[in-house]
Amino acid sequence: MKVRINDAECIGCGLCPQISAEVFRMTGGIAEVINEEVAEADEENVREAVECCPTEAIELFD
Ligand code: SF4
Repeated sequence: MKVRINDAECIGCGLCPQISAEVFRMTGGIAEVINEEVAEADEENVREAVECCPTEAIELFD
């Protein structure tokens, strides 16, 4: 499972790094993915971040 953030959609709410600091971090007022390849141990948190993102900016792909 891989994850990416649509920069144009992110409003910088800070939620995704709160849910998974291993996968997301804030930079320049928006979130970025630290490593697009999601470790199995982080999958549940990443799915939660996808659901919680207020602008649906986080996308999962293969
Ligand atoms: S939860 Fe969504 S809007 Fe908030 S920082 Fe993360 S990607 Fe951006």
